[in-house]
Amino acid sequence: MLKKLLSYIPGNGKKKPRQFERRDIPRDQHNVSRTLLSDPAKKVLGRLNNAGYEAYLVGGGVRDVLLGGKPKDFDIATNATPEEVHELFRNSRLIGRRFRIVHVLFGREVIEVTTFRGNAADSDNDEEDDDRRTSEHGLLLRDNVYGSLEEDALRRDFTVNALYYCIRDFTVIDFANGLEDLRNRQIRLIGDPETRYREDPVRMLRAVRFAARLGFTIEPETEAPIRELAPLLTHIPPARLFDEVLKLFSAGYGEVTYDLLREYNLLAPLFPETVRAINQGEPDLLIRKALQNTDKRVAQGKSVSPHFMFAAMLWPALQAEWRRRQDNGEPVQPALHQSIARVIGRQVQATAIPKRFSAPMKEIWELQMRLPRRQGKRAFVTLAHPRFRAAYDFLLLREESGEIESGLGQWWTDFQNAEEREQTRMISAVGSNAPRKKRRRKKPASKD
Ligand code: ATP
Ligand code: MG
Repeated sequence: MLKKLLSYIPGNGKKKPRQFERRDIPRDQHNVSRTLLSDPAKKVLGRLNNAGYEAYLVGGGVRDVLLGGKPKDFDIATNATPEEVHELFRNSRLIGRRFRIVHVLFGREVIEVTTFRGNAADSDNDEEDDDRRTSEHGLLLRDNVYGSLEEDALRRDFTVNALYYCIRDFTVIDFANGLEDLRNRQIRLIGDPETRYREDPVRMLRAVRFAARLGFTIEPETEAPIRELAPLLTHIPPARLFDEVLKLFSAGYGEVTYDLLREYNLLAPLFPETVRAINQGEPDLLIRKALQNTDKRVAQGKSVSPHFMFAAMLWPALQAEWRRRQDNGEPVQPALHQSIARVIGRQVQATAIPKRFSAPMKEIWELQMRLPRRQGKRAFVTLAHPRFRAAYDFLLLREESGEIESGLGQWWTDFQNAEEREQTRMISAVGSNAPRKKRRRKKPASKD
């Protein structure tokens, strides 16, 4: 049996694999309790069980409860096929191609139900097998071979994510020594790390995300190949990387995550232009300040705006490009517009940015040029702009990070709080203190 199990461990044979053995931990020896699960999670587990299927809570739902925390969402693994699950829940939809899964919808809560995934031991000849395919880089293009509970456990990414909770007898089932790693606060890949990263490079980002969020360390063998394999992320579709970036920076541990990403060379495939600008001396203090703010907001239960976060993450790249263009003699305003187009154009090749986020992101940047211009009606027009608040927050970050002198931010703070008459007075004070300068055109630099 053990031999059979070991043959399912991806990458088996390359290195001495860890010994895996199923361990069932009874109710009185763990702290997962039914009452900690959401009603929808219990409902889905119950209905699958009643219909005669096996169904377990898995992933973050078990891990975070064992750690005494509150799970972000609940994932369920079952031996029912996606079609069978879909049939059982009217409020569900089949999604995914790479992994076919079912989302069962309960208002805002989504329960993700996956069918036990197998590791088709003969997956080497998978070119012809349409259910499980890998690319020349070892990337798993599709993985829809179904299997047993054991196989499912060993196809999961990290040991602490491969713990199952059975709602029938309240046991926690551990196939990969996940409990031990949980106790030692370690992120450890199941199987041979290099193979597993090649199958799905996003696992490198997940390792960092969990390490940052749980305050765990990445176990040495799991950590070792990351720096070298980080460029594999360029093979991942930009839309998936966009989603991962959001998860990385909106979980409330953005600044730690940022440091880890840089440490493991993982920031470059996500934000190539930003990393290039920073390596050429562009400061990244604004990014840090933005992430500190975001982390604080999350701690207070507030939401995070993807457009604001992207505006900050790309700011060093935009600054470098904008300056380069001005040094080449382009006037400041057109240089900004060209730089914005270029930075976004390049970024979407790495991570997609849906229009609903890229449009407000542009506005935040463009408003940075309008905020200093307050004469006449301008201040009122700017204040009424739907993106004013975000642009003003962004301006404060620029001041805090020392990029520009402080003063303008305070002016806008006062202006927002002032009565109309006072506002008019503030504007005329600006007019007399800071007469509009004639724009001084630089001589165009000689072209070489
Ligand atoms: P979170 O709290 O962020 O939801 P999670 O561990 O539940 O953390 P999910 O992305 O919800 O993560 O995925 C649920 C489970 O599916 C994981 O715990 C893991 O077992 C498995 N899984 C997810 N992504 C992968 C992957 N890329 N490779 C292997 N297993 C994965
Ligand atoms: Mg989850």
